[in-house]
Amino acid sequence: MRRRAFAPRVRRVQSVKLELVKDLARHLRAGHPWVYRRGIEKAPAGLAAGSIVDVMDRGRFVARGYYDPLSAIAVRVLTRDPAEAVTQLFWRKRVARAVALRRAFTPFADPVQTDCARLVHGEGDGLPGVVVDLYGKWAVIKLYSAGLAPHRSAIVEALRGEVALDGVYGRDEPAGRGDEGDGEAVPDEDEPGAERAGHRPARGQVLWGAEPPDPIVVRENGVALAVDVRAGQKTGFFLDQRENRLALRRYAKGRRVLNCFSYSGGFSLQAALGGAREVTSVDRDEAALALARKNFELNGLDPGRHGFIGADVLEFLAQKKGEKAHYDLIVLDPPAYAKTQKAVPAALDGYASLHRAALALLPPGGILATASCSARVSADEFTGAIKEAATKSGLNLQLLEERRQPPDHPVLLAFPEGRYLKFLVFRRPED
Ligand code: SAH
Repeated sequence: MRRRAFAPRVRRVQSVKLELVKDLARHLRAGHPWVYRRGIEKAPAGLAAGSIVDVMDRGRFVARGYYDPLSAIAVRVLTRDPAEAVTQLFWRKRVARAVALRRAFTPFADPVQTDCARLVHGEGDGLPGVVVDLYGKWAVIKLYSAGLAPHRSAIVEALRGEVALDGVYGRDEPAGRGDEGDGEAVPDEDEPGAERAGHRPARGQVLWGAEPPDPIVVRENGVALAVDVRAGQKTGFFLDQRENRLALRRYAKGRRVLNCFSYSGGFSLQAALGGAREVTSVDRDEAALALARKNFELNGLDPGRHGFIGADVLEFLAQKKGEKAHYDLIVLDPPAYAKTQKAVPAALDGYASLHRAALALLPPGGILATASCSARVSADEFTGAIKEAATKSGLNLQLLEERRQPPDHPVLLAFPEGRYLKFLVFRRPED
């Protein structure tokens, strides 16, 4: 008879199994990381946020992920290997892989020029719902699912093991919305900007190490940027436009620039440093405009020679049309217009009218640089909306450049929702 002493010391924890009720196994096996609640049988009552669950297809293992009782996405897949357990080592390996990608191909290669980057880009790095942005010596984490909260400290540990940091700051997490998700894990572009300049309440807390300075000053392609990681939008800055901002620079020389939805002035700075005559930045977030002014100073540019306007962009454009104003380089970088599939038609109308209003200010020979970060609006649909606006304005625009997101925002092909950013540069031909 076997003695008890020989019994294995670690008992295998029986994981919760959830059966697919729809024919989704193929998508999951191909690498799509989301399982909607309607796609699985009812979870056991009281199954806690963050529980590790196995998704099954008629009794066969398909994928393992974490459970979210609040979101429309009930399970986000972490692995399709039945032998891979989700332990501290799992998070460590995934974070290490993500950081290694950045070290190989992104700003890490030249930290003197650029010391900010996205370290972890959710689904694109096999870590659905996890976003980590690096600003100098600080990592800022934003978890887009309540199911990640129990794993937060494992993720922080993993980051500390991979990157030399002074601190890790955690931004507020969703308290479980019935979201459909967006390219950037989950949409939250419409964070209400502070209505006035001045101190804004922090929207997160230190998870490890030192308090981040306010602001953290980082470099992006040699441009100094003040970032407010506590109260700024998202994690404090929109790193995904880094290479598009640089691409704008070549169009700027001698031009009168209008940067709509400027936030803290990322595009404005590249334009001004590229030799623009004058740059006007428009955003409804006054605190972001205060940072934009500061950013001009940090780069040796006199903010007094440029415009910083706290206003609604559409109202501003309408007013300028009335004044018959012209800008020969216009940048449009609005928040996501479509957060659900249902919202796409309205978003396309929105894009069309925004572009019509902007084109009214663009003289012959003028450049229009325009972005969409709506994952659900395809590049073709976006271009179609611009074409509609141009046709209605009696214009036949030239397309000069088509760009997407940089390599620190990778996209899995099985997850087309991740391909959210479009950036197009057009020119209005001479009459
Ligand atoms: N171009 C920026 C990022 C823009 S994010 C960069 O390079 O960093 C979108 C911005 O649009 C946010 O700053 C938000 O405050 C602003 N915004 C959203 N709706 C707006 C509106 N109707 N009028 C003016 N600004 C708006």
